[in-house]
Amino acid sequence: MASFLDSRRGYDHFEKVEKEAEDRIASFVNRFWLPPEKGTKIVFLDDNPPIIEEHQLRIDGNWRNWISCLSIVGQPCPLCESGDKPYTAGFYTIIDTTEWTDKKGIVHKNEVKLYCVKFQTLKKLKRASAKQSERGKNGLVGAMFEVYRGDSKAPSTGDEFEYLETLSDVDIRALNPKAAILDYEAILKPKSPDEIRRILGKLSSTASDFNSEEDIQY
Ligand SMILES: [Zn+2]
Repeated sequence: MASFLDSRRGYDHFEKVEKEAEDRIASFVNRFWLPPEKGTKIVFLDDNPPIIEEHQLRIDGNWRNWISCLSIVGQPCPLCESGDKPYTAGFYTIIDTTEWTDKKGIVHKNEVKLYCVKFQTLKKLKRASAKQSERGKNGLVGAMFEVYRGDSKAPSTGDEFEYLETLSDVDIRALNPKAAILDYEAILKPKSPDEIRRILGKLSSTASDFNSEEDIQY
């Protein structure tokens, strides 16, 4: 007799699940964030960030869920309709020079990350970009900053920026030979209204603290 398990049995199915998990990891882009009272050095790979309205949702206690607001493509947004307020965010690609060791003991350094900053930080970076251009540089491209996060109330992308130097392409390659500007089209691609409604349905059944501000990281 046919069973719903027929298509889910055995190692072929497991391989499919494994493949899906790998794809998820491959398409997952790491967003830069700093713990309070910590700093590091970052290098901008680009400037003139794409700027969109974005929602951040807490799902199963996890804040690492970002959804582009459908208003950016001129559609009614189910998240806005549900009362969630989007914020304005600009996106840069950076190299994060922070060194860290994973569970397998592999040391990571100079990783390419998505640097998503909100309105106030965007204003600071706009000024910093203009300053670099006045100095004859290509805006923030290649600019290395010491970035520091004052306290837990400060943006997790840091609130103090100190310009150090501008790196050449060769310098950047030396840090990370694979460094390339991230594919914003793919990362920020709006979901369909149905997909967003499905996520909303999941939320209303699991969380009553939908709009809680605690533990926000991004
Ligand atoms: Zn929206």
